[in-house]
Amino acid sequence: MRNYRLAAIPGDGIGNEVIEAGLEVLKAVATRDGAFSLEIENFDWGTDHYIEHGAMMPDEGLEKLRPFDAIYFGSAGDPRVSDHISLWGLRLAICQSFDQYANVRPSRLLPGINGPLRDAAPEDLDWVIVRENTEGEYSGAGGRVHRGHIAEVGMDVSVFTRTGVERIQRFALELARSRPRKLLTLVTKSNAQRHGMVMWDEIFEEVKADYPEVETDKMLVDAMTTRMVLDPRSIDTVVATNLHADVLSDLAAALSGSMGIAPTGNINPKGKYPSMFEPIHGSAFDIMGKGIANPLGAFWSASMLLEHLGETAAAAVLMHTLERYAAAGQSMPRDLGGEATTREVTDTILQLIEGRNI
Ligand code: ATP
Repeated sequence: MRNYRLAAIPGDGIGNEVIEAGLEVLKAVATRDGAFSLEIENFDWGTDHYIEHGAMMPDEGLEKLRPFDAIYFGSAGDPRVSDHISLWGLRLAICQSFDQYANVRPSRLLPGINGPLRDAAPEDLDWVIVRENTEGEYSGAGGRVHRGHIAEVGMDVSVFTRTGVERIQRFALELARSRPRKLLTLVTKSNAQRHGMVMWDEIFEEVKADYPEVETDKMLVDAMTTRMVLDPRSIDTVVATNLHADVLSDLAAALSGSMGIAPTGNINPKGKYPSMFEPIHGSAFDIMGKGIANPLGAFWSASMLLEHLGETAAAAVLMHTLERYAAAGQSMPRDLGGEATTREVTDTILQLIEGRNI
């Protein structure tokens, strides 16, 4: 039997609630499949760890994670600590150190879910946004000068490297080529940002020549927001910089029904390091501890994780289960207009996985 080692990092806020539910679901899928098993180790890193030890994870944290086959992550962020500390101390530290340069964010309007787009049918919204995940606007380059004085300056420097740009664009072109519509939109802002973004566009012109089967177009990020709302059907695969895709994928999640259902994978495509899967929502402290967090984004992320491990049949079973659940339209969580608690949603999904009717 194939055995995989998973590192679970629930993190902060509702991350704990949805990852606990996600692990139950993952175990149920493995049991049903019967051909693989999961060995799960839990790491209680996050803001509590920071408050106790002065760091979001221990010094040897990355070394500990390195041998795992994949990482299942909840969220990092807590009102007691500045967001840039919690983000850079855990999630971004893992993404950058493990060279998880491709952040893959699928969005679909699942059958049965009413998104905010009036008249949109499930076939109108089936996108994958590929986000550059290691450089660009979130490179970490920059600094603060004259702190606390009137002349204080703060600078964040966007860093675009030819290697970084080319590899994410190739990844997106390959992904677009593997999807039925073979359609890729390059998002840019080269009208206003005339160095890195112009290079981003130029490199795209070069690399896309290697993928003649893929139909491509180019959009300014501001125009892309309008297109997502007014003409969702014209979009399939999208590639964008770290910042642009961060914003666009939240919009995509909202258009597909709720932040609570959207998944993401932080992928190290060469497999040198483990990849990391997580729901895109954050810690949502306003609903923490109430038992009402929507776990569907964590479940969908679990399906991406299984797919990444090569367990495509199990991944498809889980995804199909989520589709059946949404289509049945009962027992929806609150953010999708229902009354169901995290526990109730999880139990319904477990029943479906075990082949019982709901
Ligand atoms: P962070 O600062 O960690 O990104 P946040 O609370 O600012 O977290 P999100 O958690 O991403 O932002 O979400 C914003 C709001 O959307 C939350 O406050 C919550 O009300 C709602 N929300 C997000 N995720 C879920 C979920 N899984 N289930 C239900 N509601 C959610």
